[in-house]
Amino acid sequence: RAKSNGKARFEVFDNALHEETIKLLTMETEFRHALARQEFELHYQPIVDVNNGETISLEALLRWKHPTRGYIPPLEFIPLAEENGLIVDLGWWVLEEACRQLSLFQKRFPKQNPLSMSVNISAKQFSQADLSGKLAALLGQSDIIPGTLELEITESVIMDQGAAAIGRLEELKDLGVKLYVDDFGTGYSSLSYLHRFPIDILKIDRSFIREIDATGGHAEIVRAIVGLGRNLGMALIAEGVETEAQLAVIRTLGCQFAQGYLYSRPLPAADIEAYIATKG
Ligand code: C2E
Ligand code: MG
Ligand code: MG
Ligand code: MG
Repeated sequence: RAKSNGKARFEVFDNALHEETIKLLTMETEFRHALARQEFELHYQPIVDVNNGETISLEALLRWKHPTRGYIPPLEFIPLAEENGLIVDLGWWVLEEACRQLSLFQKRFPKQNPLSMSVNISAKQFSQADLSGKLAALLGQSDIIPGTLELEITESVIMDQGAAAIGRLEELKDLGVKLYVDDFGTGYSSLSYLHRFPIDILKIDRSFIREIDATGGHAEIVRAIVGLGRNLGMALIAEGVETEAQLAVIRTLGCQFAQGYLYSRPLPAADIEAYIATKG
């Protein structure tokens, strides 16, 4: 009895595993065709100056508009794309699309401090030998205002490359690109290295902003990161600001920029234009 029971259970497990495998394989096949079928889209989330509410930049965030399953969030397909290498082509599509759209936004909203846009760079793309060469070509074809493209690279991707990352980042800086460390505080950054990297901005990871409670407590790590950034001459963006209380705290701590649902979720281009038109 125990034996047949065990077998039945094994079959259930086996079927579930089988279904999961089929789902993954289907997704992989569909994903391979998605670029050619133009199923990817960028959404944009404002990065705002906390002192006057002005949008200074937009983060481009990738969405897969699946024909039957609707929008699939990036964390469900980017790891897959990293694994099968498709992230490289996809990443170039993102950069091209971001520059095309930024140029349109800049023409629609001419400002003294022109709008900029940040793009997330994957580990594979960052380690591509011809990254800066290809980016130079792309920037040459684009008519965005010089100095308005920003790249977001996570702390662990930078640290994984060790000293080689410095040269790589400097090549990018030479193109007039600004550099952000994304999700700062979650990696295993050696703080003694940080000053050697030509970084413009630290993005304080959402997990630390979330800790700030309604009374403004638990902000110690944010305070420490703001202090560190300031001492290194880097600007700071708080990620994932959702409440007025969190905004008040980061403003008091001297963090100049914020991004989060309090201001706006990531939105398609047309909706972001409406946001900027009304909120600035
Ligand atoms: P990230 O670069 O740290 O992007 C911020 C994520 O936080 C976005 O999730 C955004 O929608 C979300 N977010 C922003 N404000 C709030 C808030 O107030 N509360 C909460 N709960 N979440 C907030 P999203 O769009 O799902 O992207 C997830 C991650 O996927 C990104 O994290 C980034 O690592 C990656 N990703 C997105 N687009 C690309 C891309 O084009 N290329 C690469 N390589 N990675 C991308
Ligand atoms: Mg990012
Ligand atoms: Mg981030
Ligand atoms: Mg994050």
